[in-house]
Amino acid sequence: MRILLTGAAGFLGSHLCDRLLAEGHSVIGMDNLLTGNIDNIQHLAGRDDFTFIKQDVTNYIYIAGPIDAVMHFASPASPIDYLNYPIQTLKVGALGTHNALGVAAAKGARFLLASTSEIYGDPLVHPQREDYAGNVDTIGPRGVYDEAKRFAEAMVMAYHRTHGVDTKIVRIFNTYGPRMRLDDGRVVPNFIGQALRGESLTIYGDGTQTRSFCYVSDLVEGIYRLLMSDYNDPVNIGNPTEMSILEFSNIVNELTNCTSGIVFKEHLRIAGDPQTRQPDITRARNVLDWEPKIDLQTGLEKTIAYFKDRV
Ligand code: UDP
Repeated sequence: MRILLTGAAGFLGSHLCDRLLAEGHSVIGMDNLLTGNIDNIQHLAGRDDFTFIKQDVTNYIYIAGPIDAVMHFASPASPIDYLNYPIQTLKVGALGTHNALGVAAAKGARFLLASTSEIYGDPLVHPQREDYAGNVDTIGPRGVYDEAKRFAEAMVMAYHRTHGVDTKIVRIFNTYGPRMRLDDGRVVPNFIGQALRGESLTIYGDGTQTRSFCYVSDLVEGIYRLLMSDYNDPVNIGNPTEMSILEFSNIVNELTNCTSGIVFKEHLRIAGDPQTRQPDITRARNVLDWEPKIDLQTGLEKTIAYFKDRV
């Protein structure tokens, strides 16, 4: 297949480039490098099955020749990033999704949207199943990301139903691994960065809020299976092993041999932080025969090794 991937220089986008190329596909990677990092795909330069186009996908996208699949991964995705770029976040979810769908419709390509567990907001149903409609504060700080992705899902289903595009929606839960930005503000790079510098880990709030962390290779496997499937409804991909942020901080401190402990901080800009989050992956198991394979310790060791060179 010849695949257009937006957000190709991001954390997930760059791992997807590697996987798609390894499967023998050719990839056109697009990114405006607002929050992506060209270093993530530097190793692909010069390959004749990979092309990079520096473009903001909220502008009209022109690609010559056939395209078999469009994967829309462009978006600021960490709370710090989308709070820094609220309007770009709304635009890439709305206009960017529309443009990317337009390419898929024109080329007769299948389409895959990177959606998010954030569409569930601060969930009142636990764990989150795909048929849960969510609890989102439209005008809260996270609304710019949550509503952009909710709009994007609606737009995808409109193209599916109106134009018959073979569309897929993956709802991505917290994912970690090499190539995350050390300064993206998320808990995994923050904690590992702090531990490696010998600083105390900063816990926002009381640390009782929970998350479920999926290693990037597991996520990429699930996304690849979804792309190749004929399934059109949303699918959660994530690791259901849930823990509190306090427990998570202990694990990071242990694995890094950091003895500086933890410090509690007030939630400043990140108000609206969901209290719980855990994917129900029954659908992914049934439809894709997928479940995560990498346990947290193994995944964190690989991630810590990556960050060691960068701190
Ligand atoms: N968090 C924290 N300390 C940090 C960074 C994040 O306690 O230095 C918390 C944050 O408040 C949230 C959780 O860790 O409850 C996960 O945050 P992250 O930004 O990684 O992603 P989110 O799941 O909120 O989108």
